[in-house]
Amino acid sequence: MSHCIFCNIAEHKTPADILYEDDEVMVFRDINPQAPVHLLTIPKKHIAKISEMEAEDQQLVGKIIYTAKQVAQDQGISESGFRMVFNNDRHGGQDVHHIHLHLLGGRPMRWPPG
Ligand code: 5GP
Ligand code: ZN
Repeated sequence: MSHCIFCNIAEHKTPADILYEDDEVMVFRDINPQAPVHLLTIPKKHIAKISEMEAEDQQLVGKIIYTAKQVAQDQGISESGFRMVFNNDRHGGQDVHHIHLHLLGGRPMRWPPG
């Protein structure tokens, strides 16, 4: 999807501060961080939102979570704790329609979220 900002980042057509990538996933810094550590983990495959995830995507989405957990360890936020979030569609506060797992850490999080 050439008009999708996260596909463009995945294809290196748009720059990003990339911490990890392989043939299936990529981790980069959020451009507008909401915590000292705010990273996004995406699949290179375009999936618009979690509610459009197919059964065949289960392993890929599991890999997204595992990859973010590994990077949380690398970033030194694993012992203190962190939050992982998928926003989904309008009420979920999703702005970019290519699934991305937010990893937030480096400060205490509040609950409930807004
Ligand atoms: P959403 O609200 O869709 O869950 O989150 C989208 C996130 O993507 C936001 O936190 C926003 O700051 C981030 N973002 C939007 N455009 C870009 C971009 O071009 N580059 C990077 N690195 N992050 C972006
Ligand atoms: Zn995309």
